[in-house]
Formats: sequence, structure tokens, C-alpha cells
Amino acid sequence: MTSASTGLPLSPEVREVTRKVLGLSEPLCTECSGRFFGKLGHGMSNPERWEILQSNLQETLPAPLPTPSECAICGGAFARIDAWVERALRVVEGYEWSTFLCGSRWGPENLATEEALWATTGSKWGESLRTAFNREFGKALARATGKVALQEGSEILLLADVPAGRVESTVFSLYFRGRYRKLDRTIPQTRWPCRVCRGRGCKRCEGTGKMYPTSVEELTAGPLTELAQGNGHRFHGMGREDIDARMLGRGRPFVAEVLSPKVRTLDVAAALQEINTRAEGRIEITELAPCAALDVRKVKEELHDKSYRVVVRGEVPEEKIKEALNLLSGCELVQRTPVRVAHRRADLMRHRKIREMKMTEKEGQLFTVEVRAEAGTYIKELVTGDGGRTQPNLSELVGTPLEVVSLDVLEIHDNVEGEPW
Ligand SMILES: [Zn+2]
Ligand SMILES: [Zn+2]
Repeated sequence: MTSASTGLPLSPEVREVTRKVLGLSEPLCTECSGRFFGKLGHGMSNPERWEILQSNLQETLPAPLPTPSECAICGGAFARIDAWVERALRVVEGYEWSTFLCGSRWGPENLATEEALWATTGSKWGESLRTAFNREFGKALARATGKVALQEGSEILLLADVPAGRVESTVFSLYFRGRYRKLDRTIPQTRWPCRVCRGRGCKRCEGTGKMYPTSVEELTAGPLTELAQGNGHRFHGMGREDIDARMLGRGRPFVAEVLSPKVRTLDVAAALQEINTRAEGRIEITELAPCAALDVRKVKEELHDKSYRVVVRGEVPEEKIKEALNLLSGCELVQRTPVRVAHRRADLMRHRKIREMKMTEKEGQLFTVEVRAEAGTYIKELVTGDGGRTQPNLSELVGTPLEVVSLDVLEIHDNVEGEPW
């Protein structure tokens, strides 16, 4: 390797700094010596950089000292990079991974020494210890394992804690997207910790720590977590329906997240079948597929119209209902946060558009209404009026207090054509 092929400038200034680095009383490894010039040239390692610069001095140098094991800047971490690789591999033993990101934590004295020596030698081209170590650690790890270093979206993070002499690992979550239909009016979307004991287990929850025996989250992410040998799960839905509402039609998009998975390559078709078999008609999932962490934000941010079916009880003549529904179709509601959720949501006014409302059935005191409305509309309150907190509302328009017997979400109008949401 020559200075010509690497673009390393061999100016008097560079020669001067090279002499100063050689003259330092602190012992330095070839990596840390070359790093004073780290931002100069390309396509070579720092020890190679140092080699070229030294031979360029064209002066009779004292016989080269053996590479010190205790470098004043890195403490010998670069010379022992293979030991760091071994430590890293021990920490993630038993985990499946194909991509990784390396990081490092240094003592303040390492960083301070480096900065002080930059000043002493007058180097303006120094590369930081951390950047160089992370890169060399990553290169060595890739060589040893054949796995791929990624800056973003890696499966694990390996952090070398240099002063402590150990590697810490973070195993990133595994994500699956899909759609769920909920056919059971007694289960919530997510695991709901017991209000009395906050999850520790008490008499109220019969030791389960939960308000409800199961949830869409547990029925979906539970089997995935078992299959991936994770240590927990999270569930992210595109909105949520009330516990007593069914979710029908094509179902609701979700992302299930498995925490700290040991296994990352699952037979997704078999997992889907397993989930549906175990949930025995309480829920049904479709379109299960692996996805990225970014999809969590996407599924939570997307807002789409929804269609509902409400069965209502009230003694009202058919004509009067139809007249009221005509008035409500296309109307903008003003909804104050409903009383039933006010304990956990901010009390505010929201404006929501009703696209369409129509009656589909009437028998005695019961009638069925189908509604298509903007995301975030409180449908039960649209019917009852919630003590006047929703304006206008069906009860006031027909002049009789109405009761919601049942509510189903019929459809979420996300990307009907093409890609699943
Ligand atoms: Zn060093
Ligand atoms: Zn409890």
C-alpha cells in the first residue's frame, strides 16, 4: 500500500505531527497512533496508515518498539479485539441473529487522554476512539460469524463496556403484522392489569393479576412469544373496539411484538394456524406476516373511516327513526369525552363526521342501524347522547332515550385495494 493509492497527503504538516506522535512519552498501539490521522486518506486501516506515515519520514528512526499491551489511549482494547468478539458471542449464545450493531462505553480517562494528545501533537485529523472501536469490533465480529453489521434495523446490539471488561447485549423485538376479527364480547384488545393489585395478583383477580382472563393480545402475541421463545409481548392495534363490541369484516390491522426472541425464523403459516386453533372462535387472525419496527408507528398513526352496526332499543316509530338518521347522515358531531372513559382520557371536545347512517332492520322495540363514521367517533354516545355531551345525537332527535343493545365494528376502511394497510 502506498500513499498514492490511499490519497494520504504527505505534507510537511503531516510529517511534523507524525514526528510528534513518535516522540510522545505515552506508549501507544499502532491503531491509536494511526488514528491521529484517521480522517486523512481512505481504504486502509489505522495501523496501515501509521505504517505509511512512519516510512515516509525518511529519517533514521530508532528501532521500533514492540507494540505495547497497555496503550495510553485504548488500554489495549484494539489489540485484544478477538477477546471482545468472544465475550460478545458468549452473551448472545442461544439467540438466533443475522444482523447486529456494535457500540462501546469508555472510561472518561480514555477519552480525555485522546483529546489531550490531539492537542499536544497538533493533529486536526483525529478519528474518535469510539467510532474506530465500534467499526473494528464490528468488522471482527462479522469476520468471525459471517453476520452483517447494520446501522439501523439490526436484530441485536452488542455494547462493549470497556472499563468493566464485559459485553452487554440488547436483543431487539420481533414484529408480526396481521388483522384480527374479534367474535367474543367479553375480551379486551390488550392485557389489562387488575385495578386492585396492579398485576401482582389478589382476590379480585383470583391471582391472575388481570381484569379479564384473556385478550386479543394474549391470544395472538402469546403463541408467537412461545414459538419465538421471547420473554414478553406487546400489542399495537389500529385503534381499538370496546370490550363488548365484536370486530367483524376483514378485521382490524395490528402489530404483535415479541420481546427478546431467541428464535427469529418462524413458520408463520403454522403460527397463524396455531393461534386460530387455540383461540377457538373467540378471535380469528388473517394476513399474518413478519414486519418491521417502523410498522408499529404506522399502524398506530393511521386513521380510517369505520363502519358499525348498532342494535338499539327504544319505542320509536319507524318514520321518526328514518327522519333522524337522514339528519345525522353527513353531519359533524361535537363529542365531549364520554363519561365512561373520562377517568382515563383527557376531557376534551372532538369534532367527528358521520358519513352515513341507515336503518337495516326493525322489530318491535329493537332496531338496527348501520353507521359509517370518521375514525375516533364514539358510536354508543352518538345513539344515547351521553347526557348531552354528544351533539347532535339520535336520542334527542327522536325524542326518546335510547339504549345500545350491541355494537359491532363491521369494517375498517383502510386500503381496500392492494397492499394490506
Ligand atoms: Zn490503543
Ligand atoms: Zn388483582
